[in-house]
Amino acid sequence: MNRYRIAVLGGDGIGPDVIAEGVKVLRRVQEIVGGFQLDYEYLECGAKCYLEQGDPLPSHTLEKAATADAIYLGAMGDPSIRYPDGTELTPQITLRFELDLYAGIRPAKLYPGIRSALATDQPIDFVVVRESTEGLFASMKRGTLLRDEVATDTQVITRYGTERIVRAAFELCRQRNGKRKVTCVDKANVFRSFAFFRQVFLEVAQEYPDIEHECGYIDAVSMKLVMAPDQFDVIVTENMFGDILSDLAAGFIGGLGMAPSADIGDKHAVFQPCHGTAPDIAGKGIANPLATILSGAMMLNWLGDEHRDGNLREAAHRIEEAVATGLATHQLQSVEMGGKQSTDEIGTIVTERISA
Ligand code: ATP
Repeated sequence: MNRYRIAVLGGDGIGPDVIAEGVKVLRRVQEIVGGFQLDYEYLECGAKCYLEQGDPLPSHTLEKAATADAIYLGAMGDPSIRYPDGTELTPQITLRFELDLYAGIRPAKLYPGIRSALATDQPIDFVVVRESTEGLFASMKRGTLLRDEVATDTQVITRYGTERIVRAAFELCRQRNGKRKVTCVDKANVFRSFAFFRQVFLEVAQEYPDIEHECGYIDAVSMKLVMAPDQFDVIVTENMFGDILSDLAAGFIGGLGMAPSADIGDKHAVFQPCHGTAPDIAGKGIANPLATILSGAMMLNWLGDEHRDGNLREAAHRIEEAVATGLATHQLQSVEMGGKQSTDEIGTIVTERISA
């Protein structure tokens, strides 16, 4: 029996609620598939932690998370609780820097049964690969404000950071059953940093002659995504552009409650929904937990690949099937999709479908 330690960071707002459903589904799939055991360790983090301990990601949490086999995260932060300088708590971003989680993997897959915000009959199934340790976020909390007159934040693009994110995108493209195409998204016509990002992309692309590659500007690609999302397979881009594009893409597939994600480095990985703490619906019990449940499936797939454990891959497949068939048969109907099901009901329906 293979055992894996999962660090669980529920966080704030809807985070703990959606994580509870994710863990419920993981426990059930473990019972059904068997051959592996996930041991959960719930760790303190988030806004409450900041109020009590002065740090939304205390060192003991970080240390334990760093030694786990994988990290399962809900959402952290609270717009009403801020640092003395007025900025919001962003421990989930700190975690990316601390654990060097450079590859933000954000799949945008439209499941049959979900109505896209786009008027399209075309299948939507692409992935945004967001560089997560540099770009515009490199100057996070380190920008300058001069005499209340001039503010700056500096974008940082390195060869090292770009090579590794571009390789991650091509490797992912090879694993997928998609169009076998990687699109680099930048603003190379205006900014030196983006021209460099594109140059490095084109160099790395030579290592992957079996995969088509192309480049596009962020403005043009944004329009193309809306007009013809089926033209895309894997998109690789800078941190801030990736942040925006992945939320845009969530709109194509039913909303943020449908958008899973993974933040992967060479040694650690965090799995969490694309959404934040959703303060407007926190405590109402109506958050859609499917993004978190699907992030749990991504976690099992990643662990399965890392540890060559076929049971984990089978378990991931079972979760995806349960979600896909539940949506296709309209048994899953979150409030986000215009339905009436509570967060808890959705988790329960997925567990029942796994057992069926
Ligand atoms: P952050 O800054 O952490 O990204 P945010 O407040 O900008 O947080 P989200 O928390 O991601 O953004 O929420 C954006 C919108 O999407 C909100 O209106 C929220 O209610 C909705 N939303 C987010 N997640 C879900 C979910 N799981 N189910 C239903 N609606 C959601």
